[in-house]
Amino acid sequence: MGDAPVDEKPDSGDTTAESAKAETHEFQAEVSKLLDLMINSLYKEKDIFLRELIANASDACDKLRYAAITEPELMTGDSDLKVSISLDKEARILTIADNGIGMSHDDLVENLGTIARSGTEAFLKQIKSDESEDPSLIGQFGVGFYSSFMVATRVEVFTRRAGEAAGWRWESKGRGKFSITPDETATRGARVVLHLRKADEEFVEEARIRHIISTYSDHISLPIELAGETLNEGSALWTRSPNDITEEQHKEFYHHVSHLPGDPWLTVHMRAEGRIEYTGLVYVPDMRPFDLFDPARKHSVRLYVKRVFISDDCEGLMPGYLRFMRGIVDSNDLPLNISRETLQHNPILAKISSGLVKRILSELEKKAKNDSDGYDLFWRNFGAVLKEGIYEASDQSAKLMKLARFHSLNATDKWISLADYVADMAEGQEAIYYLSGDAASGIEKSPQLEGFKARGIDVLFMTDPVDQFWLPTAANFDDKPFRSITQGSADLDKFETAKSDDDSAPEEEKTSDSDMDKLIAMVKLTLGDEVKDVRTSSRLTESPVCLVADEGDVDMHFERLLRQHQQPVTGQKRVLEINPSHSLTRALATLVGKEGASEALEDASHLLLDQARILEGESLPDPAAFSRRLAGLLTKTLTT
Ligand code: ADP
Ligand code: MG
Repeated sequence: MGDAPVDEKPDSGDTTAESAKAETHEFQAEVSKLLDLMINSLYKEKDIFLRELIANASDACDKLRYAAITEPELMTGDSDLKVSISLDKEARILTIADNGIGMSHDDLVENLGTIARSGTEAFLKQIKSDESEDPSLIGQFGVGFYSSFMVATRVEVFTRRAGEAAGWRWESKGRGKFSITPDETATRGARVVLHLRKADEEFVEEARIRHIISTYSDHISLPIELAGETLNEGSALWTRSPNDITEEQHKEFYHHVSHLPGDPWLTVHMRAEGRIEYTGLVYVPDMRPFDLFDPARKHSVRLYVKRVFISDDCEGLMPGYLRFMRGIVDSNDLPLNISRETLQHNPILAKISSGLVKRILSELEKKAKNDSDGYDLFWRNFGAVLKEGIYEASDQSAKLMKLARFHSLNATDKWISLADYVADMAEGQEAIYYLSGDAASGIEKSPQLEGFKARGIDVLFMTDPVDQFWLPTAANFDDKPFRSITQGSADLDKFETAKSDDDSAPEEEKTSDSDMDKLIAMVKLTLGDEVKDVRTSSRLTESPVCLVADEGDVDMHFERLLRQHQQPVTGQKRVLEINPSHSLTRALATLVGKEGASEALEDASHLLLDQARILEGESLPDPAAFSRRLAGLLTKTLTT
């Protein structure tokens, strides 16, 4: 290609453009969008670019250390891994160099030309919609390197991959294109050269750099050198005594391992000694990571063996229901040369995992006890994930049920525990009542709740899809079985209504039981196969009808969920329950057997069922018939 990148000013002899042939590449469209954002609008907290570049250098050294376990020759000649920073005030050049794994030609094209992580689209959207322009989100979406363009007009990367002979020079001005040129001067690792804008010349000030590194990078276990001096402590944070770690240091380490903005909500630093030795430093985030509900359910706690980084997605280290945890585990007992593939079946790993899980759950328990407001925040973020453990991890389900929080009929805007619920049960109440539904579509307005409301009996709201999975497996809590109030018959008659706010009701001419029985028989006959049964209900006070699932049948909400997720479902027939004290049903009951009333009663039967379906949020199987019947009835009332 003839169009070698032309520098307006040659820089300190680094460029060898004349002899080498440069190839020009275009950035992936998303990268260009992102770079535009970097260059034009992300002005706050610019200094995070340095944190990102040092994090990359540290990752690169981790990768080399891991690769060298099986190929020690990759490190020969230069085995003291470190980051070196140098400043050229005159030329406004900041250089960050590491002797880690480095990049091949193809690595460069792939890593510094595209955005690998799937969340970047989401990042771009979020940053646009919030107008928050919060660059601390950058790391989360794996676009760290590109943040160098917040401060540099031009960036060069000189790199040679460990074990390869050829070196390369990557260069870009951050606008659409980058070039790659062979470079013989590149040594193992990567040297990132930032040509700073005039406005950002503060980043060649030594004091400024020292300050940024002590704020952001002190926890990095790799030495970070400036002018021959090591700036950071250089020991891995987790190896220090818990008392020697400040909150600030935890925060920075948390940002480093979590790629999340915000602060750790809970810090667990544990050291197990004895037969199996390991250290865990893990955090519960104060926000949901964007991929929390990704179907892969991967955790991201990093595994180290004797301070050497092994893997950041080691299966079996953290169960799926704790996948929101961030941090590290460092084992002394696992063999260093263990392959990532065999790791997950290693018995030591299983022991480490169960020790960690136990500790995390007991810390959560403490937090729930001592700081219930703070715990609510945790529960809102991760409760739906934690509940997966109730059916997945039978050995922990009792503990997890204690940690669970719910909204309920009597607690629509606070969180209660199962123990709270049980403590408030009515006299004679034997089961824990719950209603499954969708929080967004107003579960608290469900007609099935009316009878419970009238009797002051609380009903838990199960609004997370995961509830449909653990509830069937959880036999009971505190010896009380769970009972769906939209399933089976509700034996509410044994409870007194708390207070009859409608004193006149009992005095009203009472429809005789036999009339109501006749109505029920008639409706059943009319609806035939459309329902499983028709019966009177003690669940209802205001609504005339509702649908419930028969004992042993699939709950209606669950069936809807399955349908929403395109699962094959054979729709089950439902039980239509009729409120015997509603004026409509009473009026209908008196019509049964009257001459000429049978057609109206038939229409009414269908309308009652359709009404119950609508209340349930279901669609009508025959909307045309519904409309015709409703119009007919209205016409009759309005014209007589
Ligand atoms: P992330 O670090 O989250 O993957 P970045 O944008 O910071 O995203 O970096 C993109 C990729 O470029 C890295 O995953 C890595 O493969 C590569 N890379 C960046 N810096 C270096 C470096 N100093 N040495 C080797 N590879 C690097
Ligand atoms: Mg990075």
